[in-house]
Amino acid sequence: DAAADVLRSHVRDIPDWPQPGVVFKDITPLLSSPTAFGVVIGAIADIARERGATTIAGIEARGFLLAAPVADRIGAALVPIRKKGKLPGPIRSATYDLEYGSATIEIHADAVPAGERVLLVDDVLATGGTAAAAHGLLVECGAEVVALTVLMELSFLPGRSRLGTLDIVPLLAI
Ligand code: 5GP
Repeated sequence: DAAADVLRSHVRDIPDWPQPGVVFKDITPLLSSPTAFGVVIGAIADIARERGATTIAGIEARGFLLAAPVADRIGAALVPIRKKGKLPGPIRSATYDLEYGSATIEIHADAVPAGERVLLVDDVLATGGTAAAAHGLLVECGAEVVALTVLMELSFLPGRSRLGTLDIVPLLAI
């Protein structure tokens, strides 16, 4: 479909970044094409509308670039899920394992009124640790997470298996 085609042509592979052996999916060519970016934002907005999302939650930092225009386009609330130490108010936090060490993400404890229908948005689903932690925070807040949408799901990694029954809607799976 149109969004998948746009992603195939506007996301580039950067070998050995951020470390040897990793092929990083770089979305900056997508961001620099207004037409391509519009197709992708429109596709995510369609998913959000179909699922009756009332809130769009974006994961720092590339998730923000997607969640904000989608929320604006459909008239939904926008909620940032941030790296540790960035949010000023009372927070909930979740720590998860990385290949080396761990990471912590946070949400304002009052960011999502109970019962909100939340679409969680990020750019890439890789090992699933980030998305699983973000999903857990939203559930703790009382949200109903209607789906996780990503631009790209890296299907050769076990991300999906870490997300239980959460509905995962990639625009492109590779
Ligand atoms: P995971 O927790 O699923 O292993 O990694 C997903 C998180 O790391 C996402 O927030 C995503 O932005 C980032 N990430 C991991 N691999 C890539 C990649 O190849 N390209 C981009 N753009 N982000 C990635």
